[in-house]
Amino acid sequence: MPAAQARSTHPLPPALFERRFELPDEDATLAFGTRFAQALDAVRHASDSNNERFTGLQVQLTGDLGAGKTTLVRATLRALGHHGRVRSPTYTLVEPYSLETKAGPLDVYHFDLYRFADPAEWADAGFREYFDRGAVCLVEWPQQAGGLLGVPDLEFALDIEGEGRVLIARAFSETGKTCLERC
Ligand code: ADP
Ligand code: MG
Repeated sequence: MPAAQARSTHPLPPALFERRFELPDEDATLAFGTRFAQALDAVRHASDSNNERFTGLQVQLTGDLGAGKTTLVRATLRALGHHGRVRSPTYTLVEPYSLETKAGPLDVYHFDLYRFADPAEWADAGFREYFDRGAVCLVEWPQQAGGLLGVPDLEFALDIEGEGRVLIARAFSETGKTCLERC
C-alpha cells in the first residue's frame, strides 16, 4: 500500500439523507449503477424543465480494494450510454467521458485517486476545473485528496459483507438527495 494510504479520511458533515442497499452479488451492484444513472438523467431532465441549470454532481466512492467501486462506476457509465471499455484510471488518475444521454450531452469524469500523493498535483493537473463544469465526477479513493474535494453531493460507501456487498449511500446536497430518493 502506498504511504499516502495512511492519510486520514476527511470527515464529512451530517448527511441530509441516507439509504442502505444490500447488494448480494455483482448483478445487484450493476443494477444499482443503472438505477443511479436513470435517477441522474431524471434529475437533469427536471432541472432543464424548470430552467435551472444542472451544475454538476460529485460522488465519492469509498470502500476497500475489491469492494465494487469501479463495478458501480462501470454500470453507471454504461447506463448513461457509454459503449466502449471502462478503464480503471489507477495510473492516469482520471478518465474522461463525453456522453450523449436522454437528458442531453454530459461530461463524466471517473477519478481513481489511489495513487494520488501530492496535493500540489491537484492544482497542477487542473483537477479543480473538472468539478466546476456541470460535469458528473465519480471519485474513487476520495480520502487520498484530503480536503481538496470538499463536500460531495453523494457518498457511496461500499463494504464487503460475506459473499456480497452493502452500500450505504449518503446525500449532502438537495440534488444528491433527489437522486438518491430515485435509486
Ligand atoms: P474496487 O473498484 O472497489 O476496487 P472492483 O469493482 O474493481 O472494486 O472489483 C469488485 C469485485 O467484486 C469484482 O470482481 C466484482 O465482480 C465483484 N463484485 C462487485 N459487486 C459485488 C457484489 N455486490 N457482490 C459480490 N461481488 C461483487
Ligand atoms: Mg476501483
